[in-house]
Amino acid sequence: MSLWLWVAVAFLYGIAIGSFLNVVIWRLPRGGSVAKPTWSYCPQCENRLGTLDLFPVFSFLALRRRCRYCRAPISWRYPSIELLTGLLFAAVAWRFGGTADTIFYCLFVAAMISVFFIDLEHFIIPDGLNWFAALVGFAHNAFAFYYLHEQGQTGKLFDVQMPASLAGALGYGAIIYGIGLASYVVIVALIDKNKSFFAAFWEYIRDNVLDWIFIVAHYVSYIIPPLRRFVEPAPPTEGFTAEEIESDEEAGGMGGGDGKLAAAIGANLYLAAALQSALFAVAIGAAIGVVTIIQQRRKLGGRTAIPFGPAMVMGALIALFFGNDIVAWYVHNFLTFPGSPFSNTPGFWW
Ligand SMILES: [Zn+2]
Repeated sequence: MSLWLWVAVAFLYGIAIGSFLNVVIWRLPRGGSVAKPTWSYCPQCENRLGTLDLFPVFSFLALRRRCRYCRAPISWRYPSIELLTGLLFAAVAWRFGGTADTIFYCLFVAAMISVFFIDLEHFIIPDGLNWFAALVGFAHNAFAFYYLHEQGQTGKLFDVQMPASLAGALGYGAIIYGIGLASYVVIVALIDKNKSFFAAFWEYIRDNVLDWIFIVAHYVSYIIPPLRRFVEPAPPTEGFTAEEIESDEEAGGMGGGDGKLAAAIGANLYLAAALQSALFAVAIGAAIGVVTIIQQRRKLGGRTAIPFGPAMVMGALIALFFGNDIVAWYVHNFLTFPGSPFSNTPGFWW
């Protein structure tokens, strides 16, 4: 199959899956299920949509931006997310060609698109999306190792040999949890003078450990149903509606959701590219932060929540598509002085 046919097929799959992502992005943060109801409905009149209403992009154009039943305007966001997913799937197919990599990375990209829009709007990252993305990364790693015998499928973390996806997940996750801990301690120290450094330190660790215990118990309870009794109420980041989370006073800092997102990105990109993506994320996050602070200059002192998740997603996509090229450009331009390990000409000093 020619590359261009492959890219075109990926684009069509992309807009179809983008149509499904619209459902995910709308329902997950509102505490709904992705599977129920099985039909799509108009968020205004809740009328069940028929086949003719559901053709990605085309229905939007044919219906002239209005619901067929109640004439409520349809948001530009729906066809935009469908087109974006199509374009990103096409880009993955173009970058990785007719390989299994393309399929795994498309699934990863689909999860990242959902995370991007949900976190941007609601300041939460549903655990289910992080788990889905992490499992895609682990499966990709296992498939490449056992079936394709590809190089570079094992990694090292502190001299311990392990699957590259696990090293990436642990490494990037630890960095973001570390930054989260440091910023939490600083923010708490600035706001609450009565709380000691150590109190804030242990509070962050306790909350995140509890979060993990809940998550693990929640997922294990699918296998051992009696456990369900102990994880009620639902785990912290899944049971809440977006409104409850938005009204949460402490939802300003970098949450545990970012740490779990980092683990999911690390599982897919592996450690080296994940670290690269972290640098891009920090640069993008800082740029967005500066713009937001300038815009909100007058109401500083109130909560200026800046979700870091979208910056991490953008960093991950840049690293996925351009990581190798950027490293090659950097090495070529800055590290190829005579005698550097990257230079072909031996230096006079060694
Ligand atoms: Zn309607």
